[in-house]
Amino acid sequence: MSYNIGDVVKLTEDVSGYEKGTKGIITKECGEGYHVKCPDGEFIHVEPYVLEKVDSREEEGYGVTFDEASPILSIEKLGILGRVNVGLHSGNPVPNTDGKAIYLPQIISFIKYKRRKGENAGNDPNLTLYVGSLFHEAAHIRYGSFLIDISDYVQQFESPEIMRTILNIVEDVRVEYLFKKEFIDDPKRVKPLVQTERYLVKIMDTDNIDSDFTRLIVMLTQKAISGYTHGELNKKTRGEKKFLKKKYKSPEGKRSYAELFVELLDEVEQVKRADATVFDSIEIAERIYRKLHDAFGDELSEAEMPETMTQHSFDTGRIRLERKEDITSEDKRSKFRKEYEKQKKRMDVKQKDIEKEIERMREEGELPEGYEPPKPKSPKNKKGRNVGDYVKWLINKLKGMRGDKQKQEDNKQSQISGFSGADFDPLKEFVRRKLEERGYSPQKAEEIANNLNPE
Ligand SMILES: [Zn+2]
Repeated sequence: MSYNIGDVVKLTEDVSGYEKGTKGIITKECGEGYHVKCPDGEFIHVEPYVLEKVDSREEEGYGVTFDEASPILSIEKLGILGRVNVGLHSGNPVPNTDGKAIYLPQIISFIKYKRRKGENAGNDPNLTLYVGSLFHEAAHIRYGSFLIDISDYVQQFESPEIMRTILNIVEDVRVEYLFKKEFIDDPKRVKPLVQTERYLVKIMDTDNIDSDFTRLIVMLTQKAISGYTHGELNKKTRGEKKFLKKKYKSPEGKRSYAELFVELLDEVEQVKRADATVFDSIEIAERIYRKLHDAFGDELSEAEMPETMTQHSFDTGRIRLERKEDITSEDKRSKFRKEYEKQKKRMDVKQKDIEKEIERMREEGELPEGYEPPKPKSPKNKKGRNVGDYVKWLINKLKGMRGDKQKQEDNKQSQISGFSGADFDPLKEFVRRKLEERGYSPQKAEEIANNLNPE
């Protein structure tokens, strides 16, 4: 019996401390056997004769299958990528894209949500993880990660693969920031993405990572993308503080990982700018690479990343980067801008086209009940609303946001000291945008938003 990557399987005997019946996902072929990812996030090596395929949610008892999710995913894809030709396939245990197609798991069953008899996938929280994963991958395409080809460029580094990994992290931070910024008025889009990223941080325990380098990188990714490390979301994970206190030899003498961590976080944070492109990500990634190389030296080339982390290739774009100078070259950048604008035009999809598609699916019974596709962004014109109402509405909205913000602040109090704020600031962005819509100049709006007193 042979298995494919992404297949959900169960053990027919006890294996490596896991009981018979434990379910997992095939992540890799390995010799005669396979790597199986267990529900606790650990990977075990398993011979094929102790495996049995689980291929439907009836057998597993919970989860959402790709087939169930795919009508919704195709509407969401239409909303984000419009007429750009990007396929949508199942079969990858870890969501990924090469810019031409998006690959998602066969089934997502992280959350043990028991459906009522006859209930469809519409309210299953695993569906949110599908949509969130799709948005992440689609955001890479929407914001231009795949317009470049870095295959030659990375060769100048001692460890090209590590440079790729770091660029992946910076790009993840950039595209998620831009997605949240663009769709800030659209909770149906922002929420699945935020919930998915936070869920993934929650289940990825960094106490289990042996390599210091890998651990630092994973914590950095978690913090920069979601605003939290695993330890900050799981009070039971105690190892992080101890890890950050650890000292290492730097060219300037002994330093703690905490110092390095904060320094790297400050670098990644710089990509959170409305006009940041993949070129800015490369510049930042290069600086991070140098700092990590100073800290870890040759260990860097041997470092391996966890199998659960997506590694995009960025090798398929039309703008080829070969030498260091290409990153700052005005010629390459203007080529990028042209391609980017062209692509953006094809992504612009009219709300009525999305609605037409939703209507068609509803008529054909393809859309699960309970699922609400995203509505258009809140309209620009607030005509018909008098100023008093507008102010009341704004104040209420701000109060709601402050509630969130306050929770974040409370959380921060108990965090490891020295972390700088990594959170996307929805309050500031919201005020800035609303003021601009009300006719304030961008500079003035930014100034007022920045000087905002949280009270
Ligand atoms: Zn990514």
